[in-house]
Amino acid sequence: MSFVFSPSPTVSIPVLGSPARYPVHRIYCVGRNYEEHAKEMGFTGREPPFFFLKPADAIVVVEAGHTGSMPYPSQTKNLHHEIELVVAIGKGGKNIQAADALNHIYGYAVGLDMTRRDLQNDMKKQGRPWCIGKAFDHSAPIGPITPAAQAGDVMNAEIYVQVNGQDRQRSNVSKLIWNVAETIEHLSAAWELQPGDLIYTGTPEGVAAVVSGDTLVGSVAGLGELRIRVA
Ligand code: MN
Repeated sequence: MSFVFSPSPTVSIPVLGSPARYPVHRIYCVGRNYEEHAKEMGFTGREPPFFFLKPADAIVVVEAGHTGSMPYPSQTKNLHHEIELVVAIGKGGKNIQAADALNHIYGYAVGLDMTRRDLQNDMKKQGRPWCIGKAFDHSAPIGPITPAAQAGDVMNAEIYVQVNGQDRQRSNVSKLIWNVAETIEHLSAAWELQPGDLIYTGTPEGVAAVVSGDTLVGSVAGLGELRIRVA
């Protein structure tokens, strides 16, 4: 087959302990999935899960032990960090039941759902899509994927992000409103999941702005650290 121009390269993420990489298909994100974060955004914390997407090439891969870099994006004066547990799907399916959901998971990673909060808020006010606030270039930094068998007790893991060495967000994955299995059940009722799909599962309270020159260090216990500088 020939193409009228070269196709985009496959976005992929390193896998700890493996020479093979994880090819990314789609990036799904869960909105307002920790109660204290929902409250800080002006909501009650009690609502069905809802989803948005980022393009696969919004990924910024940060290799283990490295400090990644993302450019400060255009058109915003309020770039927020959202530290999140990321689920990497290994086996696709639709209408996956929560009881069977963990069998569809390849592994886990630490991710940042970077957000142009001012633009997102403008869109919310007008009832317009969040894409410009959420799905911009370089908006999805992520560390290596840890295969599920080596990831420890991710569902009860501490999650945090520090900016320039100061705590910004610190919570526990056990505080998810919709846990990972329930999230997969809801998501796969709306889309057929595919191997390579990533799910950013939501962020705890403490979202705030970063500026050029800031260094973010985020972690989910058992999955290592994600370290990235805003250029
Ligand atoms: Mn988020």
